[in-house]
This record gives sequence, structure tokens and C-alpha cells, in this order.
Amino acid sequence: MSSPKRQIAMVMDLNKCIGCQTCTIACKRLWTRDEGMDYMWWNCVNTMPGRGTPRDWETMGGGFTAGDARPSRIPTRGDFGDAWEFNHEEVFFGGKGSSAHLQIKGEQPDWGPNWDEDQGAGEYPNAYYFYLPRICNHCTHPACLEACPRKAIEKREEDGIVLLNEDRCRGYRFCMEACPYKKLYFNETRKISQKCIFCFPRVEKGVAPACARQCPGRVRFVGYRDDQNGPIWKLVDKYRVAIPLHPEFGTEPNVFYVPPMSPPRFDENGEIDESRPRIPDEYLVSLFGPRALEALGTIKSEVAKVRGGGKSELLDLLIAYEWKSMFGGFDRDPATIEWTKG
Ligand code: SF4
Ligand code: SF4
Repeated sequence: MSSPKRQIAMVMDLNKCIGCQTCTIACKRLWTRDEGMDYMWWNCVNTMPGRGTPRDWETMGGGFTAGDARPSRIPTRGDFGDAWEFNHEEVFFGGKGSSAHLQIKGEQPDWGPNWDEDQGAGEYPNAYYFYLPRICNHCTHPACLEACPRKAIEKREEDGIVLLNEDRCRGYRFCMEACPYKKLYFNETRKISQKCIFCFPRVEKGVAPACARQCPGRVRFVGYRDDQNGPIWKLVDKYRVAIPLHPEFGTEPNVFYVPPMSPPRFDENGEIDESRPRIPDEYLVSLFGPRALEALGTIKSEVAKVRGGGKSELLDLLIAYEWKSMFGGFDRDPATIEWTKG
């Protein structure tokens, strides 16, 4: 695999995610409404700590250790949770008025996307949770691509987006096994794998991916890794506050996260206890590696600077007063484009 000329990337600020799933629905409406795709959520948002989507994906294996592929397993449909069917016909068209209520049809599910929503961990009054949005990481060293014997997965030269060629795919699912983030899905109807496409038809026209553009929390930054005027380079390389999830998986993701700051802890007298953070450091390190603590240290010192009357380019960037500042030039209004169905 030759290296792409440029690499497009996304940064998600976990301090701003409110778990509303607007990103999830933006992606679903655009890309995963065809046959066999009903259980697919190329963008998912999970409560952390939690078992995630697919269930327990963090412990399934995949990726690389010291360049060698790590053993792994393919997530099952049960791990993702089946798409649920509702009695829409009865409620909306059954003529029963307000006496009919939305209910799940068939068997009661025992798992689904974000099943453990808002459970989190810790004991009252020091319980905690935060939201973790996930898409394909469009990795620099994609395990999915290396695992495919059909060479059906490519990393685009112009922008590093990892795409799966559905005409070449024969549904062997080696990609699903190899991806340590478990972000590929098997379409049972078409017998092929499918995944996030980083909204490449939008990106090619200067429009940010739908999950980023629709986010009401202004969580997601988009741009080229090497654009020194753009948000990605500043957050990842200049200030080093955006870091990959599970860097030990060895695939070098191009989706980065600003780790979450903790609300204060309370001691047994109800007083604020500043001796340790509410979200345990070791938990954040288990997700993002030791750089999580450096990133939080940088943000805290910038906050202190602003409280002391100073200015902070980093905090202005993270706050994103102007939405266009988040998209590294990918800020074109999609309504100005004449889309053609390919
Ligand atoms: S996250 Fe998984 S599917 Fe996406 S490029 Fe990396 S290895 Fe491939
Ligand atoms: S980048 Fe596009 S395809 Fe990928 S998760 Fe976001 S909306 Fe879906």
C-alpha cells in the first residue's frame, strides 16, 4: 500500500458530546437505508464506561502488536443487536387514536446500540459517564485492508479515506475480524461487508461529513492532517490535545479525541475533594494511553490562563465560536450543490 498524498481526519471533543445521536441519524438517513443495512450504524455513540457497540468490541482483538496481526474474532449479529421492528402501521394508520402506543414487535431484544446508555460507573455522589462517538478511523495502517485477500479495500491516494469496493467484495469477512474497532458490518442480503465512507461524495465537493456538519454540540472538527491553518493540525500536532482511541491497537487511526475533563468529586462531608478526578485517570489511560493525562493537563493550564485574564487560541478553537472554523475549508453549504444519483 503506498502512502496517500494527504490524509483527511476528524477530531471529536468529548467534552462537548451530549449523546443526542444526531450524528448517528444523519449517517443513517444518508447511507444505510438499503436492504440488509437496517442494523448498521456506521456512526454510533456509546456511554462510557460501557460494553459498547458491538458488545465488548474492545476485547475482541484485531489490529497489530509490533507489526504482527493480533488474534481476533468476528462480531456476531447478536453482538451488534438486531434492528427492532415497531408497530408503526398500527399506531400511525390503524385508526386507534391515542389508544395505540409504539411497541417492539416480535421477540424482546436483549442488546442494541448504546444499550447501557447513561449507566456509567462509580458510586453516588461520584458516579460518572461520558459519551464516545465512533466511526471508522480511516487508519494509516488499516488492518481491514491488509486482511482482505480480494484487495477489495483501498486507501485513497488523494485523501487517505479507506473505502471498500462492493463489486470486489465476496463477503469473506476477514476485514471484520481484523479491524480492532469492529467498524465493518456484514450485509446478509447482499453478502458483502460495508463501512463508513467518510462521506467521500460530500468531501469531494467541499462539504464536511454529515455526522460532523449536523452535530449540534460542535463536537467534530474536520480537515487535512497537514493543513497548518486548519483545526486538525492545531489540535493533534500543535497543542497535542487530540489523541487516538486505543493507540495500542497499532492501526494509527485518523480519528482523534479530546479526552473528557472530570466534574469535581465530593468527599463524605459533601465538600469538593480535589485530591483526585472523578473519572479515574487509569480509566482514561486504558482508553487513550498515557497521553490522555498530558492532554488534560494542557487544557487545564489553558483554562487557568483564561481565568487569569489571558487569551488562549486552543480554547477559542475548542469552543468553536464560528462553525466554519471547525471544518478546515470543508464548509460549503450542501444545498448549493446539484447532486446526481450515481
Ligand atoms: S477502523 Fe477498522 S475498518 Fe476503519 S480503516 Fe481502521 S481497520 Fe479499517
Ligand atoms: S463520515 Fe459519513 S459515512 Fe462516516 S459515520 Fe460520518 S456520516 Fe457516516
